[in-house]
Amino acid sequence: MQQEVGFMGMGIMGGAMAANLVRAGYSVTVYNRSRDKCGELEEMGARVADSPAQMARECGTVIAMLTGPQALEEVLFGREGAVAEFGENTLFTNMSSVSPAFSRELAGRLQSSGCRFVDAPVSGSKKPAEEGSLVILAGGESTDVEALRPLFEVMGKKVVHCGPVGQGSMMKMAVNLLLGTMMEGLAEMLNLGRQGGLDTDSLLEVVTSGPLNCGLFQIKESMLREEEYPAQFPLKHMSKDLKFVLDTAYEEGASLPTAHAVSQTYATARNLGHGDQDFAAVLSALQRLNAKH
Ligand code: NAP
Repeated sequence: MQQEVGFMGMGIMGGAMAANLVRAGYSVTVYNRSRDKCGELEEMGARVADSPAQMARECGTVIAMLTGPQALEEVLFGREGAVAEFGENTLFTNMSSVSPAFSRELAGRLQSSGCRFVDAPVSGSKKPAEEGSLVILAGGESTDVEALRPLFEVMGKKVVHCGPVGQGSMMKMAVNLLLGTMMEGLAEMLNLGRQGGLDTDSLLEVVTSGPLNCGLFQIKESMLREEEYPAQFPLKHMSKDLKFVLDTAYEEGASLPTAHAVSQTYATARNLGHGDQDFAAVLSALQRLNAKH
């Protein structure tokens, strides 16, 4: 019999990923801090747990897709946290984006519960989560990653086993450094051109007609054109990830001069009130920082 799958975190990504598991026929129990976000999954046939502990009691496989370390701390080790119910038959997977150091530390803290642990953050945003076409970046024992592969293949189009625990998060940091830098580069290109009297349409046309064209720029094109930024990947999460990138670079001795500037720009954008918008709103922040002629 298929084991019950527990899924914690019904945000932009988690809600869509859990829905795909239900559609694929898995028996799923969901938990979210704000219970109202579980309504759609409940209508689809998922069970709703009152607490992480209740969910963990009933589920051999437990997945978390939450903001980051603080949220994980609360659902795992807080009041009615899941870890109290973990045992040797539990396979816990953290798909939230965190630093590799946090993943390795978490693995150490989970050891006494006897559970197995995989870190498996994802590359891809809201639409790939809805379509089940994420790229899943797994770190852990091969046997555990293989046990999770059928679930991963429902949520994603590709599973990359990056190495032992922590290496999924290491890959995620590397990918998000590139993502944040590319978005920042496009925003600065548009900002310069517009300040210099060019219009957004022609700037975007030039980018997307030549060798610089790419999937990311195509996805963000309409947001930038319309200057409306409904969150697919909230800017505050990009800012969080770039903080982890810089911490990781320091620990590993990696030289990343541009990352410092890019991280600072997203932090400024968040401080200017763009945190809940999509990270493409970094363009709005740049515009607000321009000299007023
Ligand atoms: P989101 O929509 O902001 O959802 C965050 C989730 O975390 C919600 O379920 C929220 O619960 C929960 N949460 C936050 N703080 C909590 C706490 N203290 N205790 C318990 N639960 C807490 O985020 P998302 O976009 O789905 O992203 C989730 C993770 O995936 C993040 O690590 C993000 O960096 C990563 N990611 C996102 C994207 C993307 O494009 N969106 C792409 C790749 C990776 P409430 O509903 O109660 O607030």
